[in-house]
Amino acid sequence: MRLALAQARAALDTGDVPVGAVVLDRSGSVVGTGRNAREATGDPTAHAEILALRHAAATMSQGWRLAGTTLLVTLEPCPMCAGAVLAARVSRLVFGAYDERAGAVGSTWDLVRDRQVAVRPEVIGGVLAEPCGALLLDFFAGHRQPGTAALGRPAKPDADRPGAG
Ligand SMILES: [Zn+2]
Repeated sequence: MRLALAQARAALDTGDVPVGAVVLDRSGSVVGTGRNAREATGDPTAHAEILALRHAAATMSQGWRLAGTTLLVTLEPCPMCAGAVLAARVSRLVFGAYDERAGAVGSTWDLVRDRQVAVRPEVIGGVLAEPCGALLLDFFAGHRQPGTAALGRPAKPDADRPGAG
């Protein structure tokens, strides 16, 4: 998760919401990394998880099936990324901060543990949640107007959040 946090911090360089992700293979080796790059690429689907899964599939050269892998991400995945976790057959999903507005792994929806899902990944949430969440709060605090920077919800909750995870 510390490597995912480093990816998240790197997203700040391009003005992207700081979310980072890492994929580990069965042996625990890093086979994919990704960070939110919507601003950097202009691609609305360039979430950290999507890019990390693509990277892992290319690295592992075993096709699109990523069974046996673990995806670590600093923020609870959104519906698109939760769907990608299922599509890729990821075996274990570990995430940091909960996204109470748009999280699809227990907060707003729970797609990966839906009864309709045949093969559900193991899920571990809240790992290093404090530093993962603090990075996001700092980012959104910096985007507020002066004088409104009290910690808590973004000043314009519908403008920037959510969707980077
Ligand atoms: Zn996402």
